[in-house]
Amino acid sequence: MSARTISIFGATGSVGTSTLDLVRRDRDAYDVQALTANDDIEGLAKLACEFGAKLAVIADEDRYDDLKAALSGTNIGIAAGKDALCEAAGLDPDWTMAAIVGCAGLEPVMAAIEKGKTVALANKESLVSAGALMMAAVKHSGATLLPVDSEHNALFQCLSGGRIEEVRRLILTASGGPFRDWTLEEMCSVTPDQAVAHPNWDMGAKISVDSATMMNKGLELIEAYHLFAVGEERIDILVHPQSVVHSMVEYKDCSTLAQLGPTDMKVPIASALAWPARIETGCGALDLAAIGRLDFEAPDELRFPALRLARAALRRGGTAPATLNAANEIAVAAFLQGRIGFLDIAALVERVLDAADIAEPAGLQDIFTVDRDIRARTSELVGDFSRGD
Ligand code: NDP
Repeated sequence: MSARTISIFGATGSVGTSTLDLVRRDRDAYDVQALTANDDIEGLAKLACEFGAKLAVIADEDRYDDLKAALSGTNIGIAAGKDALCEAAGLDPDWTMAAIVGCAGLEPVMAAIEKGKTVALANKESLVSAGALMMAAVKHSGATLLPVDSEHNALFQCLSGGRIEEVRRLILTASGGPFRDWTLEEMCSVTPDQAVAHPNWDMGAKISVDSATMMNKGLELIEAYHLFAVGEERIDILVHPQSVVHSMVEYKDCSTLAQLGPTDMKVPIASALAWPARIETGCGALDLAAIGRLDFEAPDELRFPALRLARAALRRGGTAPATLNAANEIAVAAFLQGRIGFLDIAALVERVLDAADIAEPAGLQDIFTVDRDIRARTSELVGDFSRGD
């Protein structure tokens, strides 16, 4: 069988490197086309050489010469800049992993979708910001969109034996993050180091903070709404601290199907990479006897207001989810830089959302405009919060 052509957007990140770990297990099965990064020249060059990529793309335009130097003496193509990311989709691989973090991944993922092949979607922020437009593009191009987020991949697997019209509820599980048991008072003094130390998952910094605020689950609610047409009111969130059950589908006959697995992103990535087949991941299988018990509890929207904000943004519709996402990206970055407190993240997002004009986006350009304006507005407000407002 001929090798499958693949590209990985965000190759140097947590999801990107886990994807390449799987590729490494069966090198001959894959022909690596494009690998991309933001500014990690060394990491990108190393991966491009190891996997014999056709093209290495660095998003930061100013780093072109550095990448060129790092790949001198190889026949790997080099490109830099945001447009080059989209052009990389033009290599038209059979399978693309969309694992850039944040709304920066939106244009490349749309370019990949327009090619009509298979796109494995980890970059939840792009779907949150432009969900309706992205799903319309999927329909138009005939692309296959496979969810990589562990919860959505779990739902996708649980739905494979049933019909969407027969679903009563989708149940997204949430670990509750590192502060699940903390009081609001204790959460006031959370540091970035504490917030990125997720109890179950090893992930990039931004998504780890999103898990700690539970904004991640809010973004996932919006993601699920677009991926699975059951309606927002049929999507529930359930805290499950062990992160063994990755999500569940309740059917109208009251049968509930759950997908369980180890807390290693290689499992959902492998599911998307091999779909509809299955491949070895090298992960340790679940030992349920050793785990012993599985706990579940309702989420607390008082301590984790991000959940309420995300659902409200989804109900408000239009550009509200893009506004939520852009404000959150800036707030998380400000928190990681030590400029605002942990609880300020949701407070800042709420203030921006309350003041935002929400409209129906006519196209991607409207989403980019909202994204740019909301980032600027949120950045201005960071100063107020850092002064203790
Ligand atoms: P990381 O921060 O680990 O990696 C992000 C990747 O995107 C890196 O390759 C980075 O390059 C690149 N990148 C960052 N900013 C830009 C930019 N402005 N333009 C182009 N490329 C950029 O993130 P994760 O791998 O953790 O997450 C990736 C996506 O997957 C996110 O949307 C996240 O929500 C989602 N996800 C992640 C999970 C996880 O377990 N990590 C689980 C489920 C979903 P560089 O290295 O040069 O900075």
